[in-house]
Parts: sequence; C-alpha cells; structure tokens
Amino acid sequence: MSAKVAASILSADLARLAEQVKLVENHVDLLHIDVMDARFVPPLTVGPIVVESLRRVTDLPLHCHLQVERPRRLIEDFAAAGADIVTFHVEALLSAEAVTEAIRSARSLGLRPGLAVSPATPAEAVFPYMEALDRVIVMSVQPGWAGQTFMEEALPKIEKVRSELERRRISVDIEVDGGIDGATGRRCLSAGATVLAVASSIFKAPDPAEAARELAALAAGRHGDGR
Ligand code: ZN
Repeated sequence: MSAKVAASILSADLARLAEQVKLVENHVDLLHIDVMDARFVPPLTVGPIVVESLRRVTDLPLHCHLQVERPRRLIEDFAAAGADIVTFHVEALLSAEAVTEAIRSARSLGLRPGLAVSPATPAEAVFPYMEALDRVIVMSVQPGWAGQTFMEEALPKIEKVRSELERRRISVDIEVDGGIDGATGRRCLSAGATVLAVASSIFKAPDPAEAARELAALAAGRHGDGR
C-alpha cells in the first residue's frame, strides 16, 4: 500500500504561504497545519483564519494538528474555516469522556478526527479510541518546534499502533510527525507509518518541489535504491 506525504507549513515562509503551497501541492497528499496556543506548548502559531485563507488557494486536504489546551472549543471554528481533518492531543483532553466527546464533535461537523501522542505518552493511550479515528499521530519530536532531531523511540510506538490495528483489522492512518527526512521517513514507513508529515526537509530545502517529489516517491515505494 502506498503511503502519503503531508507538507507541514510550520517551516514555510508564512509571508508567501500561497506560493509555497503551490510549489509542493502537486507532489504531496495533504497539508499539515500545526496549531499551537502558547499553553499546551510554548510557541504560538496560526489558527482558523490562516486555514480559511489556505482553503481558498488549494484543494489539498487540510489537516489541523491542534497542539492546544481545550481543543474541543476550537473544533467548530476549524470546521467553518474549511479544515478536513482535525487531530487532538490525548494529553490535552483530561478524561476519556473528553476524548470521546471531541471525536464525536469533529465527526458531527464533517471533520475526520485524529489523536496524537507526545513522546512521553505510551502508544496504548490511543487504543481505546482507535475504531473512531481517521488517524493516529505519533510524535517523533517534542511538540512545539520544527527542525528538531528525530527521536528513535517513535519507531517501536509506530510498530505497536500498527500491530494493534492489524489485530483488530481496522484501517486507520499512522502519521509520524517530527524530524522526518528521506532516511528517517524510510524507517518510519518500515515500522508501519502511512503518512509522513514533513516540515523543514521540504520547506527549508533549496528546492522544495524536488524535496517533496523525492519524499512522495519514497512514500509510494518507488525509491531508486531498491529497498
Ligand atoms: Zn504537527
């Protein structure tokens, strides 16, 4: 099965966001938008008004990764802005009821819901909700900043989620997020990831279109080195 590439705008030049999206949109499968609130994580990034602007310039699915406290109250705004997928952090939702309610609310607004796990959180934290999810994000860096080094600990977590999905015979994407380039991306795909979220290795590359094309070829299993 072919995997997908998500271009993460966290490393894009936000003053030229539409141009940057146009550079890569023919090579990637979706856009990944890191929403940070200066509370759940220290940085502050972008919110629904940027999603609304992106919606006007691209037909790519827009995946909003909410690294925020109390994500539930923002779901409606992201739906109205034109998001397609919304992922919450399991650490940001204080009870099982809150997780279930956030997932239900996203579905009722026509969004595909995901759950993310930070490096310190065991993969098992998402197991109770898997049947209701579109995707699981396994963070391979601490949430908050682009340009960090890939954490090896993500690989066994991806494998755990993959084997649990297979045991239950359900189809949910596993998106790995943080420190992904060709080399780490290949290892994540081998571990069972189906979506590579890539920020710096696309948007900080000398030629973002070519970088996106190479990652897409890797995800599609068309890479030249025969592995
Ligand atoms: Zn993200």
